[in-house]
Amino acid sequence: MNFLETKILSDGIIKQGDILKIDNFLNHQIDIRIIRQIAQELKQRFHDVAVDKILTIEASGIAIATMLDHLYDVPVVFAKKSETANSTDNKFVSQAYSFTHKQLNSVFVSKPYLNPSERVLIVDDFLADGQAVHALIDIVHQAGGEVVGIGIAVEKGQQKGGRLLREEGYRLESIAIIEEMDWEKQTIRFRE
Ligand code: 5GP
Repeated sequence: MNFLETKILSDGIIKQGDILKIDNFLNHQIDIRIIRQIAQELKQRFHDVAVDKILTIEASGIAIATMLDHLYDVPVVFAKKSETANSTDNKFVSQAYSFTHKQLNSVFVSKPYLNPSERVLIVDDFLADGQAVHALIDIVHQAGGEVVGIGIAVEKGQQKGGRLLREEGYRLESIAIIEEMDWEKQTIRFRE
């Protein structure tokens, strides 16, 4: 079991509806030692990949992205979310249905922050159905950039996002992959 799986087992709380809460080290309170380990692990897994920019989505992805940036020394950009479809003036806009908030969000990045031909590493805290990551991929492609990798802290393998992204040919690295979670027993099984 790796450091993140161990931390999830000790501190994670499973909520009804297939939600894992890790608020005490990633999604509310931030344990910077764990974030540092996540960043180091992702850097190691993508050691052979040239990266011009790191792209994430607000809010919790930002902590991982900024720590990873410390290792890459490239700009970090985070996509912003909004409930309303904002004007597309000078923005790349996509849509993502939020699994946790049960609503459709517009996701956008201002055009000056993504450029054609840039090699973009996407990072996020959770991967569930893949809505957020697909919106980020769409935005990178609108900008004319290339997605060189997707780095995730926690993949919920019981949901379809990881399978879809791998089938689409993306290089996806998830540090902890959950195979199943049982809310009543509060048990989690990770992929080997
Ligand atoms: P997806 O877009 O892949 O369906 O869901 C990923 C996004 O939803 C992540 O950015 C994360 O914020 C949120 N999310 C999905 N499942 C969970 C979960 O079990 N726990 C937490 N804390 N966030 C989740």
